[in-house]
Amino acid sequence: MSTVTALEIEQAIRNVPDFPKPGIQFKDITPVLADARLFAGAIDLLTENYAPGSVDAIVGIDARGFIFAAAAALKLKAGFVPVRKVGKLPFKTIEQSYDLEYGTNTVAMHVDAIKPGARVLLVDDLLATGGTSAAAIALMNQLGAHILEVRFLIELKFLDGRSKIPGVPTRSIVVY
Ligand code: AMP
Repeated sequence: MSTVTALEIEQAIRNVPDFPKPGIQFKDITPVLADARLFAGAIDLLTENYAPGSVDAIVGIDARGFIFAAAAALKLKAGFVPVRKVGKLPFKTIEQSYDLEYGTNTVAMHVDAIKPGARVLLVDDLLATGGTSAAAIALMNQLGAHILEVRFLIELKFLDGRSKIPGVPTRSIVVY
């Protein structure tokens, strides 16, 4: 149980207009991280209903996703698995590309990062268009992960990112 409410997290998230480019309303989560109570509460909410030992690994996405996924992994006594931008991981990788507004992006995971059948959660900071999460899920599926759920701190509902990750249970703490 979290003693912090989703509303308190929402009130701490800073909206920065026109970053990193005109028209984008950037959701800055650093005030949540800087507040010990809110940071712990965010991790409690992201891991709600999972007991320590019930999850084998938590996947986090470069870079803000690492912060939440790694903390959630410690809390659930699970391993942590990074999904990184292509070219950053040192060992043999599998890769997945996805479309951006202009061009494409590619993310990678180590080939041995997840054992087939492992119970895995994907934890990320924010669901926008869903492209990044869909790519991470494709990599997890390729390694035979048993994906329990995807948890986001923030969801921008109007971008309908959920439509890119059909069939995967998804929960968000703060929804705009
Ligand atoms: P997407 O692939 O469109 O779902 O977005 C992937 C990532 O981009 C998210 O996990 C965020 O880290 C970042 N992102 C996208 N839109 C925003 C936003 N409005 N504010 C903060 N981060 C964002």
